[in-house]
Amino acid sequence: MGKAEIGRIFGIPIVLDASFVLLIALFGFGYFTSASLVGVSYGLALVAGVAVSILLHELGHALAAGYWRVPTASIELNGLGGLCHFARNMPADRLANIVMLLAGPAANLILWQVFSTASDWVLQSGTGGPDRLAFLLRQLGHINFLLFIFNLMPAHPLDGGRALVQVASKFIGYDRAMRAIAYLGLLVVAWLVMLAFGGQMFAALIAFVLLQANIEVLQTHGGPRWKRWN
Ligand SMILES: [Zn+2]
Repeated sequence: MGKAEIGRIFGIPIVLDASFVLLIALFGFGYFTSASLVGVSYGLALVAGVAVSILLHELGHALAAGYWRVPTASIELNGLGGLCHFARNMPADRLANIVMLLAGPAANLILWQVFSTASDWVLQSGTGGPDRLAFLLRQLGHINFLLFIFNLMPAHPLDGGRALVQVASKFIGYDRAMRAIAYLGLLVVAWLVMLAFGGQMFAALIAFVLLQANIEVLQTHGGPRWKRWN
């Protein structure tokens, strides 16, 4: 799918992949088809808030990598959320990699608190009118909590899965660690498929991307050689 640079933050090019638009459209689908101006504008504000949250998650990675003097070449927004492309490899140090990987979810944890506090503040200072804003902020808080949990899931190429590979490879070797996380990743895919059947359509897209990624890892790290899909 097509990619385009949409701007720069702290000098880092932000590259938009068409699959991100699909993800956001599926995420806000219920609002965009609500046939009310209030519903559609609420949906737009919500997906804008989610896009900013994903961007700040990636900036968390970029900031941590910068601590080890690894510059970020670009941040890509795609069907899985986002991805940091570094200008060079992170140092082989396990701790450096784990801190860099966990810095993204940590940003979501902070945003969960920021949005929730902002929501309380709007409610307390409001006259009844801004209740919808308070609800939006509360929802963005919840979504950041879910982003925190989701990104820590043991699947390739999620932060949690990659951090677990760093830990597990110390004990069972790199290839076995990669395979172990890929099998756990298939369980995460099964869970996402259940969410998709429950009506969360964006979960189907994420499940599809994760399924491909985890099968690919199994094929390239000595797992059973299933026929390739695409
Ligand atoms: Zn991340």
